[in-house]
Amino acid sequence: MKQARKTITLCVVLACVALLGYRLRNSATAVKIDSGYQMIMGTFARIVVMAPDEATGQACIRKAFEAQKQVDQLMSYHRDDSELARINAQAYVRPVKIHAQTLAVLQKALEISARSQGAFDVTVGPRLDLEKRAAEANTPPSAQAIQEALAKVGWDKLLLDPNESTIRFTVPGMRIDLGGIAKGFAIDQSIRALQAHGALGAMVDIGGDIRCFGQAPPGKQHWAIGLQDPQVAADDTDAQRIVLILKLTDLAITTSGHYRRFTVIDGKKTSHIIDPHTGQGSDKLSSVTIMAPDAITADALATAVSVLGQEEGLALIEQTPQVEAIVMGNDTRQIIKTSGAHRHVQ
Ligand code: AMP
Ligand code: MG
Repeated sequence: MKQARKTITLCVVLACVALLGYRLRNSATAVKIDSGYQMIMGTFARIVVMAPDEATGQACIRKAFEAQKQVDQLMSYHRDDSELARINAQAYVRPVKIHAQTLAVLQKALEISARSQGAFDVTVGPRLDLEKRAAEANTPPSAQAIQEALAKVGWDKLLLDPNESTIRFTVPGMRIDLGGIAKGFAIDQSIRALQAHGALGAMVDIGGDIRCFGQAPPGKQHWAIGLQDPQVAADDTDAQRIVLILKLTDLAITTSGHYRRFTVIDGKKTSHIIDPHTGQGSDKLSSVTIMAPDAITADALATAVSVLGQEEGLALIEQTPQVEAIVMGNDTRQIIKTSGAHRHVQ
């Protein structure tokens, strides 16, 4: 009996030593590969991967970009050949069969709509189209045009059937825009691809929305990113005024805000984020940063909190486990954080 226990103890010790040796060897020999920036989903994407060898790392990067391209092919609002374009053209006429990825994104979108009392709503397409036409004509939309657009907006007007994988619109002229959530999903899909193809750690960045996992670059304890000052001039794309450094260990971080993306109509700025209840551009906060375990959650919640504003938005995040927020208002440089956000600040 004593002998058996001794043997088991020895085996456990040997296994631990082997595991430690494997880990040390792995971290010592891991290579870091940086993809550089590539245009994807109308913005720039970059992947930095830690891999056991060069070939694995290159394969990981290739697969991760392929995953992003697939999401774009399915969910782009601007491409005529995307699945989303087909949905927007046909879903009022008949139920449209959709890809499992599109279904997953729409289910998440509806979940966040419910949790944010409709502040996040992917059916804002008709109101966004109106804004685009107004910007082209340099004339603000009339109150009546806004009301007409809003009659076609509402997440309760969208019917998803997960068993049949179909979507249906209940009002003519409805249009879905996944611009507030698809990037996050594409980041998560990239991370899945990287993990499946042997990455030891990675950072995926699409347009400043980021998720990291696993082994950090050589000499670093964790992945780190800088949070930019929203007061920099909108056309100052080189400005690198960083207000906070955030450390990311297996975490996603996304930022929404009207400080960079807006339309100017007749000299007046309108945010690219619309409050679906009022039809007005949301300008309560200049920057909303969300940290969450996955990027789809962080992306959708960042857009939702931009609409909800400081009080309601931060209350929603406080109620959401494992999610934290850092927001900045319009007139002040004050940075407001949820109760657990300090854990991510360096
Ligand atoms: P983000 O940069 O993630 O906040 O996404 C902004 C994009 O989301 C916009 O450019 C629109 O495509 C879309 N969008 C605008 N307003 C909303 C809203 N209230 N709910 C969901 N998506 C929105
Ligand atoms: Mg978003």
